[in-house]
Amino acid sequence: MKADLSPPAPSTGRVYLVGAGPGDPDLLTLRAVRLLQQTQAIVYDHLVSPEVLDYVSPNAQRIYAGKRRNAHTLRQEEINALLVKLAREGKHVVRLKGGDPFIFGRGGEELETLAAHGISFEVVPGVTAASGVSSYAGIPLTHRDYAQSCLFVTGHLKDGSANLDWPSLVRPRQTVVIYMGLGGLPEICRQMMAHGASAELPIAVVQNGSLETQRVVTGTLANMAERVAKAGLVSPCLTIIGEVVKLHDALAWFNTETPQRKICCAASHA
Ligand code: SAH
Repeated sequence: MKADLSPPAPSTGRVYLVGAGPGDPDLLTLRAVRLLQQTQAIVYDHLVSPEVLDYVSPNAQRIYAGKRRNAHTLRQEEINALLVKLAREGKHVVRLKGGDPFIFGRGGEELETLAAHGISFEVVPGVTAASGVSSYAGIPLTHRDYAQSCLFVTGHLKDGSANLDWPSLVRPRQTVVIYMGLGGLPEICRQMMAHGASAELPIAVVQNGSLETQRVVTGTLANMAERVAKAGLVSPCLTIIGEVVKLHDALAWFNTETPQRKICCAASHA
């Protein structure tokens, strides 16, 4: 039998891999909002806030792809196949992901599948949690007095054992931002101290950054695991470690007593 060398069926569909930012819809890009309003189908993750979904065209087909830890609604291969199928139906599809799709978002893997199937795509960056959440927590990631570099790592521990590059995490004058690090927090703090970090190194854990439910808990490597457990924080949480965390007390501005931001927004609509 002769091999079928005919090119794949042409598809007029297109997939837009769009970053939704950390939660506050005001952090969406203009490009993202335009696409949400025009899309025919949307496939979104659990990290996408309901406030952002309010911007999606009411006529769009909505598909929840899930991916809450340990409770994946659709497996990654199923999501990849779904995107290919929708695009082959000729649809313009928004694949909406929390934060930025290229930062711990598996966006690259999804695009590889699309490329392999000859489906056209576009990427719309979003405000990643490190940037958006730290801003709303009043913690600059770099500061001339405290940190000249910043490292983004994932704290998702395979089988409970951490395989992070600990020596690179404990370098001085550096901020470490840990995505997906809530479950592994006690182990992360322990390992950093075991690799030479000061027990007094400041650390913050921010829950639901940029949303009304944002909470910030601060402490040190020595006492943070206990503080976070006591506070009962739940996912999503971003961990920020480094001297810059000291600035939080002076620079916190969101969800504080003074409602400057709300007044400012209300005035601009008047
Ligand atoms: N692509 C996303 C990250 C996906 S990994 C991005 O660029 O932001 C999921 C992790 O991101 C969560 O476990 C948490 O560590 C972090 N995260 C995302 N949104 C967050 C939020 N609003 N508040 C706190 N952490 C958040």
